Amino acid sequence: MTDLSAPIELNDGTAMPRIGYGTYKVGDDEAQQAVEAALATGYRLIDTAEMYGNEVGVGRAVNGSGVPRSEVFLTTKVWNDHHGADKARAALEASLERLGTDYLDLYLIHWPSPKQGLYAETFEALLKAKEEGLIRSAGVSNFLPEHLDAVHDAVGVYPSVNQVELHPYFNQPELRAWQAERGIATESWGPLGQRTGSVLAEPAVTAAAEAHGMSPGQVVIRWHLQHGCVVIPKSSKASRIAENFEVFGFALTGDEMAAIDALETGKRQGIDPGGNER
Ligand code: NDP
Repeated sequence: MTDLSAPIELNDGTAMPRIGYGTYKVGDDEAQQAVEAALATGYRLIDTAEMYGNEVGVGRAVNGSGVPRSEVFLTTKVWNDHHGADKARAALEASLERLGTDYLDLYLIHWPSPKQGLYAETFEALLKAKEEGLIRSAGVSNFLPEHLDAVHDAVGVYPSVNQVELHPYFNQPELRAWQAERGIATESWGPLGQRTGSVLAEPAVTAAAEAHGMSPGQVVIRWHLQHGCVVIPKSSKASRIAENFEVFGFALTGDEMAAIDALETGKRQGIDPGGNER
C-alpha cells in the first residue's frame, strides 16, 4: 500500500510532498506568521501565487524558518497578465526576487486563459527555465484536458502537475483518471469545499469523523490523499494549520470513501477554465 506520508514522484522525477499549506487570501504580514506555523508543524510544501500578493511574506517565512531551503517545496504561479515567453520569464524573475530565493520547486501557469491563446508558449518558457535550473518542475493550474493536450502537442511533454478545483462537491473522477494515465499529478485547490455550502457538515463526513475520532476537516483531507491527490488546505488559524496536517494516523474505509464521493454535485464553485472570464 502507498505510504501517503511519503512524497509522490512527478513525471520528471522530482519528489513532491502530498500535503501542503495554501496561502490564498492570506495577506503578506499574515502569510509570514502562517507559513512559519506551517513549517514548524511539519508542512514542507507551500503554495503561493504572484496574484496572492504575499510572496514577500511567504519568502521571509521560508528563509527565516531554520528549515533548509532544500527541504521546502515552494510553488508559485504566473498570473494571466504575464502569458507569453518574455512576460512569463520576467514574472518568474520577479517572483524569485519577492520570495528571496534563486529557484522554485514548482512553477504553475495559474489559468489557461484560452482567449489569449498563449498558454503553450508560456509553458515552453517554463521548460526553458527548468533547463536553466530556475525551477525544478513545470506545471499548470485550472487546465482542462484540451489545454493539456495542446501543451503536449506543442512541446512533447505533459505538465508535471495540474492544480484544479477538487473537493467532495466537485471531485473530478474523469479528470483524475485521465491525468493519472498521462503521469500528471492532480493537486486539489479549495479542498475543503467551503466556498458554497458546507462539506464539513455533511453526514458522510461527520460520520467518518466520529468513527475515527478525527475532525471533519481531517477526514476530507484524508479523502484527497486516498484518492492520490496532492492537497493544500488553507487556514489562518495556527490550531487548524496543525490539525489539518495530522492525517496520517487513520484510514477511511472503502464505504466511507464512497459515501464522500457521493456528495458530488457536478458543479464547480469557481469559474469555468474553458470560458473567457480569465
Ligand atoms: P480551502 O478549501 O483550503 O478552505 C479554506 C477555508 O476553510 C478557510 O475559510 C478556513 O478558515 C477553513 N478551514 C481550514 N481548515 C479547517 C478545518 N480544519 N475545519 C474547518 N474549517 C477549516 O480553500 P482555499 O480556497 O484556500 O484553497 C486552498 C489553497 O488552494 C489556497 O490557499 C491556494 O493556495 C490554492 N488555490 C488555488 C487556486 C487556483 O486557481 N490555482 C484557487 C483557489 C485556491 P480559517 O482560515 O478561518 O481556518
